[in-house]
Formats: sequence, structure tokens, C-alpha cells
Amino acid sequence: MTDAKSTSSEGSAAGSFSLRPLNAAMAEEVERLLSGRTRDIRLSGDLRRRYEERSWRQTAKVMRSWMTWVAFVDVLTLALNAILLPHDVALSMVAPACLLPPAAIFTALIWRKPRPAWLQRASLLGGMGLILLSVALVGVFAGGEFYERHLTIMLFVATSAITIFSVPLAWTIAIACYALCLYFVFQWYNPLAEVGSVVAGTLFFSCGIIATVVARRTMNILAQKTFLLDCRDQRRVAELGDANARLERLARTDPLTGIANRRWMMETLERLWRGGGQTGVAAMLMCDIDHFKALNDKLGHGEGDRCLVKVAGIIQSCVRADRDLVSRHGGEEFLIVLPDVEEEEAMAIARRIRESVEAAALPNPGSGVGPSVTLSVGVALKSALDADISLANLQHEADMALYRAKEGGRNQVCVFRRSQQAAPSEQIAARR
Ligand code: GH3
Ligand code: MG
Ligand code: MG
Repeated sequence: MTDAKSTSSEGSAAGSFSLRPLNAAMAEEVERLLSGRTRDIRLSGDLRRRYEERSWRQTAKVMRSWMTWVAFVDVLTLALNAILLPHDVALSMVAPACLLPPAAIFTALIWRKPRPAWLQRASLLGGMGLILLSVALVGVFAGGEFYERHLTIMLFVATSAITIFSVPLAWTIAIACYALCLYFVFQWYNPLAEVGSVVAGTLFFSCGIIATVVARRTMNILAQKTFLLDCRDQRRVAELGDANARLERLARTDPLTGIANRRWMMETLERLWRGGGQTGVAAMLMCDIDHFKALNDKLGHGEGDRCLVKVAGIIQSCVRADRDLVSRHGGEEFLIVLPDVEEEEAMAIARRIRESVEAAALPNPGSGVGPSVTLSVGVALKSALDADISLANLQHEADMALYRAKEGGRNQVCVFRRSQQAAPSEQIAARR
């Protein structure tokens, strides 16, 4: 079933089939085979190897249990014959019947784990050869009425094996031909059978066995088709998963700057707040590019877009990539959340962002602040004492601080102090 390189690890791979995606060529082959007629399905190459890897476990299990039962029934029949039949007849059956159990058990042992294809083939065909021979010889040795009866039993044994062993068609045909030859040859020498009845019997049983082989072939094709449909489903599920992941990425990303969008930021913060994130220390920074409208007006929308991309990049380079959250909040505004930072560190990061944007010297000739792009930043802080502050309140405080920064002349960082809320003029403006 598997090629000569088959190992036991390939057998265990049978269970992990669903985890191994098909490559493009295999997927194309799956579609080609499924688009044709079912009876024309022929697996080859890697696809065939995969199919065999997957079906081996089940095939081997069926084969092992069949072999074990045949051996058991053989011994049981021998015991019953000893009780029910005349002593000399029962005794004559012992020697040929003893051939069967070792052959069946040996074959079952070989099929306990994946072996090279030649060994699997040799063990099955050799084992079946001895089993069928044993059943036939029991009749030949007993003679009389048992002669033909055991040949018929032998054909019945062969038919059951052909029906349930999901092996390559060539192996099935080999078993069928062998059984029919065995029947014909032994019947030919049956002293009680006439030539006409031998030929007629052989033809009759040939028809039955051929029908069984054809049924086996149909079952093999249907099993291969099921495998192909599974492959197609697996690929479609994977493609759907990729498409979903892409959509999810698009839904949370700002298409211009590539950073997170407002929706993602708000959902993330709401989740954090709901999950108890509100009990920790954090800072919220609302950033807004100064006189950005003037930049658009003087240099055009395209330059405005490029400026937004650069500012987004600068902001990201100034925060801690592993924990800080950055989003484009809208237009030329960016929202930053710094978890686990006290005021000093939050202010240092805010200043670094403002300084970095200024240092980038992106032109904004229409700005009232200077020749280049500048940024105003409003900072709101949440200390351990503000456990019950809502997300909306903190955001409002960051907005207020930004408003103060704008009012104070832009290009500066302002922090909102809750204790001094009644006296807005006391808010601290930090510049450089
Ligand atoms: P202030 O210093 O008070 O913030 O002034 P401002 O000009 O920056 O603010 P205002 O709100 O007056 O103008 C914001 C401008 O940002 C207006 C809008 O056309 C522009 N804008 C918003 N989104 C985009 C965008 O995606 N690309 C470009 N190029 N411009 C944008
Ligand atoms: Mg704005
Ligand atoms: Mg602005």
C-alpha cells in the first residue's frame, strides 16, 4: 500500500492527514479528478500516497480482525469436527487445518504497522494463499462429501476477503484468480466430480467472484472520491479561514497608514476596561497635527496623505511595540494608549513623539507654527487611585488637554490634571 520508504511514523501521519494542506498542483489534480466521471477516478503520485496513508489504518485494522477471526473459526471448527465427525475423518483434517492459524496470525502481525509495500503485498498474498489452500486441503484430505464442500467454503472465504479488504485492485484480482484456480485444479482431481460439472462449477463461481471483484473496485473508487471531496473541503475551509483573517485584518487597519483604526482601538479599550484593565495605571495620548488643513491646501491632498503615513510611522517608532496601542483616530488625529506607565514616563514618551515629528522636518509651509509639520499632544493619566474612571471620561480628559495644547500655541504637550479641573489655567503645558 505504501512505498518502500514507508515507516511507522507514516502510519501515525495517517491521523494527522487533515493538518497537512495540499499544494497547488495537488489541489488542481483534485479538482480535475472531481470534475470528471466517478468511474474514471485514478489517484496517482502524491495524492495516491496521501490516500494510502490515510486509509492504511482502517484497512489494516479490518485485515487484522479478519485474520484473527478466521484463525479462531478454524480452531473452533476443528474442535467441533472432533466431536461430531467420525474419528478418522476428523483426524485427517487436523494436518491441513493446522496450516491456517499460523498463516493468518503471521499476516495479522505484519499488518500491525506500516511496512514497505512489497512486504505488505507478499504477506497478504502469501497469507491468503496458505489460508485458502488450508481450507481446500481439509476437504481433499477428508475426501467424500467434504471434498467439494470445503472447496466451496474456500471460495466463500476468498469472497469475504475480496469484499472487505480495501487493497489495490491487482491484489484483489490475484486473490480471486488464485481461489478459482485452486477450486478448478482440486475439483479436476475430485474422484466424485465429472468433467462437465467441474467446468460448470468453475464458471458459476467465476461469475460470482468477478461480480465481487467489480463491487470491490467500485468501493475503492468511491472511497477515493470521498477522499478527494475531503481534500476539496479541507482546502476550501483553509481558504475561507485565510479570507476571514484578511477581512479581520482589513476591518481593524487604517488603509492609508497601515496602523490600527479607531474601531479596533475602541473595541480593544472597551474589552480592556470590561476585563478589569481599568484597575491598572495607564496614560492616554491624543495627538493632532497642527494646521494640517493648510498643508493640504498648499501642497495638495497627496502630500497630506504622505505626511499622515510618516507621522504614523514616527509615532509607532516612539512607543513600546509590545504593549502600547496606537490608532488613527480620524483625519489627522492619533490616539495612543500606554498601559502601566506613570506620569513621568508618559510625558517623556509624549515629548519624544512631538520632538520626533518636528525633527522629521516634513514641510507645512502654510502652518502658523513654523515651516514644518508639528504635533500637539493632550495627555490624560489614570493612576491606581482612579480605578473607577470610565473610558469615555479618560478620553474626554485627553481631548481637553489637547484643546489646551492647541490654545497654548500648538506644537506642545499638555497634561490634564483632574485635581485641578476647576482651574483649567493651571493645567501644565510642557514644551521641550
Ligand atoms: P489644527 O491645528 O487646529 O488641528 O488645524 P487643522 O487644520 O489641523 O485641523 P482641521 O480640523 O481644520 O483640518 C483637518 C484637515 O485634515 C481637514 C481634512 O481635509 C484633512 N484630512 C482629514 N483626513 C485626511 C486624509 O485622510 N488625508 C488628507 N490629505 N487630509 C485629511
Ligand atoms: Mg483635528
Ligand atoms: Mg489638526
